[in-house]
Amino acid sequence: GTVSLSGWSPQGGARKRRIVFFLIFFSPFLLFSRMYANCTGPGFSLHSDIVMPYIANYGSKEQIQKFIPQMVAGKCIGAIAMTEPGAGSDLQGVRTNAKKDGSDWILNGSKVFITNGWMSDLVIVVAVTNREARSPAHGISLFLVENGMKGFIKGRKLEKIGLKAQDTAELFFEDVRLPASALLGQENKGFYYLMAELPQERLLIADMAIASCEFMFEETRNYVKQRKAFGKTIAHLQTVQHKLAELKTEICVGRAFLDHCLRLHSGKRLDSATASMAKYWASDLQNNVATQCVQLHGGWGYMWEYPIAKCFVDSRVQPIYGGTNEIMKELIARDIVSDK
Ligand SMILES: Cc1cc2nc3c(=O)[nH]c(=O)nc-3n(C[C@H](O)[C@H](O)[C@H](O)COP(=O)(O)OP(=O)(O)OC[C@H]3O[C@@H](n4cnc5c(N)ncnc54)[C@H](O)[C@@H]3O)c2cc1C
Repeated sequence: GTVSLSGWSPQGGARKRRIVFFLIFFSPFLLFSRMYANCTGPGFSLHSDIVMPYIANYGSKEQIQKFIPQMVAGKCIGAIAMTEPGAGSDLQGVRTNAKKDGSDWILNGSKVFITNGWMSDLVIVVAVTNREARSPAHGISLFLVENGMKGFIKGRKLEKIGLKAQDTAELFFEDVRLPASALLGQENKGFYYLMAELPQERLLIADMAIASCEFMFEETRNYVKQRKAFGKTIAHLQTVQHKLAELKTEICVGRAFLDHCLRLHSGKRLDSATASMAKYWASDLQNNVATQCVQLHGGWGYMWEYPIAKCFVDSRVQPIYGGTNEIMKELIARDIVSDK
């Protein structure tokens, strides 16, 4: 259900507009519902809100018809492979490469930390296609690599401290022969596609962060109202009340900014710097709220049987993936000092 509702349609026109409506308005709603249930779950959002838009926006008619219905039905699981052992924040440093051989491409390299990588049926792989380009950004392309292709090897499922329900894997490409039809969009335009799509990914992370804050706040409010110390509930203590007041204020401020960003995004006006502000601020807030809420739970906050412990470990990755928060500040700052 989730996978298909937030998906896209291979048809154009009104049907496509209806699906776009779902993607912009309904998908965040589904995401909030999952976060309110403290269910980070498998990489549904990455599949439907990050991978599928690449295919819908840059895919050929044949690619859209081949993959989107299967992805909407949840029969083809998507992943996107940018990060490499030697290139994370610095995406222009990728070494995975594809060389032309007649009309085919031969893909070589490796990727790491790939969400859904192990379960994936289809991976969008970022690869260098022109080493002589005037900058690395001008020589990167995207390829659609399918599970089972000769030379496409799935490595370890990495042991994470949180997000236990989704796999994060290593992928290896050893002389994978790709037909010309595996190129997504135009040759050497891959970096531009990444720059165009990353704001939506960052907004998604901010979405998850604020919904998680709201969940953690309610869990903690319920806990302090029943936990007794010194003859009354700890909710009667002024220090606890002030802490809750601070958290509620910060979460409400975060929610207002996030809703503003969602409105901008629905009007196609969300720029990279604003999406970066939302991602960095909301994911830092999520981690602060997680720390404070664990503290208000006392020793039980450190135990898996209380949901707040899961929130604590799941929140830690949010300032890291989708571009680290340090990189978000770089993007925001670049916009501030730019002469444009
Ligand atoms: C659970 C999980 C899921 C992921 N899913 C995916 C996925 O599906 N697909 C994918 O491609 N990648 C994925 N990633 C990778 C993720 O996007 C990278 O880990 C992230 O971009 C950081 O890259 P890195 O780990 O190489 O860290 P590095 O780039 O080595 O950074 C290390 C530290 O240096 C800092 N740093 C680096 N450059 C600068 C700079 N210029 N200024 C200031 N500080 C800097 C960073 O902020 C960080 O604190 C995932 C990662 C995790 C943990």
